[in-house]
Order: sequence, then structure tokens, then C-alpha cells
Amino acid sequence: MLISWLNRLSLIDYPWHVACVVFTLGCNLRCSYCHNPDFVLPERIAKLKVSREEEKKFFDFLKTRQWLLEWVSICGGEPTIHRDLGEFCSRIKSLGFKVKLDTNGHNPDMLRSLIEQELVDYVAMDIKHTWQKYHTITGVTEDMHSYQESVSIIKSSSIEYEFRTTLIGGVHTPEDIDEIGQVLRGAKQYFLQQYRTGNTLDPDFSGYSPDISMLHEWQSQLSPYEIGIVWVRV
Ligand code: SF4
Repeated sequence: MLISWLNRLSLIDYPWHVACVVFTLGCNLRCSYCHNPDFVLPERIAKLKVSREEEKKFFDFLKTRQWLLEWVSICGGEPTIHRDLGEFCSRIKSLGFKVKLDTNGHNPDMLRSLIEQELVDYVAMDIKHTWQKYHTITGVTEDMHSYQESVSIIKSSSIEYEFRTTLIGGVHTPEDIDEIGQVLRGAKQYFLQQYRTGNTLDPDFSGYSPDISMLHEWQSQLSPYEIGIVWVRV
């Protein structure tokens, strides 16, 4: 596994549990609001000069934290672009940790395999926008079938999971929220995430302002869609 960065201690990535967060390198998408462009854009990745040695250091670190950490959160970049993700998860679990996977959902076959083999304990999948408008966030025009399949796999699994959308006023509309609500009908958990300004992949997106009252309005709007819990994450 190509590892770009390790957050050695997080109390918020998996609430109420102690976790570390490992960032994998590379992504198939180019989201305008991405806060990790150094781990996504090939020209910036080349400058990081990441080697397999980072993976060895990561496992050496985990072996010293078995007394403290409960969860390892794998995010990116997009972890499922790496063919060795299953083996990576298996090694983490063999050390006694639970695994949370953050994914954009582009690789349903790998996702299904990880869930069936019980190599992940929790999955968080981004829903960037309505299927028709996905490309306006991701910067990539593609067949949305893979993402739709990932939603179905997660919803029909017995695993703990969440869907989540980073919402931006002016980019997402109330009509979009209804459409996403239809897609997620019956899901266990959905997080409406506050947009964070900062170093974004597309500099034009650094100027949008967060609007918490809008998130609460959209939380109420989702009540007809029988989603277990709709949270606002700020
Ligand atoms: S936000 Fe996530 S899915 Fe989008 S480009 Fe960044 S790492 Fe990839």
C-alpha cells in the first residue's frame, strides 16, 4: 500500500473511539473542494517521493499502539484504487484493530469483497451530488453505475455504515437534496457535512462560505425518506 500520511491519534474520525487515520495515495476523482490535493494530483504526488517503506513504518507504529487504539481509519485519496487494499486491511485486523474505510464508491467489486470477507467493520461513502450533477463536483464525467452499485451493496449489507455529503449552498439545491434522499431511502445513517474553506483542489472553491442553518433546513427536508438518522456534521 502506498501511504501518504498518518494521523497517529484521532478522537473524532470514529466518534467515541480512539483511532488513527492512514491516508492512501492517489484518487480517481478530482473533486473541486478536495482538501488533499497533494495526495490526488499526480504532479504533486511525484514530489512526495513516497515509498513502500512508509507501509513498514505504519505497521511498526501499529504494533506499539495495540494497547491504545481501537480503530484504524483508511482514507485517501481513494483507498479502493489499490489492488492490495484487502491484504492491507487483513494485516491491520490481524493485529486486533477494527477497520473503518472511507470511499468514494467507485469500486463496488472490491467493496463487496471487503465486506464479504469481513475485512472492514465500518464503511463511510461519499455522495457528492445527484447522479446527474456528480461531475460538477468530481471533475470527471463517467458512468455512474459503479457508484450506484456501491450504494446498493452498502445498504443491503449488515455492516455498520454511513453515507455523507459535503454540502455547499449554490452548488447543491433543495431539489438536489430531495433527489439524494430518494437514492438513500431506507439507509441507516446519513451525514450532512459542513463545507470547510481552505486549501482546495480548485482554488475557486475556497471562497464558498459554510452555512449551518442551511444544513439544518435540509436535515428536516429529508424526513420523508425513512433514513434511520440524518446528522449534521460541523
Ligand atoms: S475529495 Fe476524496 S474523492 Fe474527491 S478528489 Fe479528494 S480524495 Fe478523491
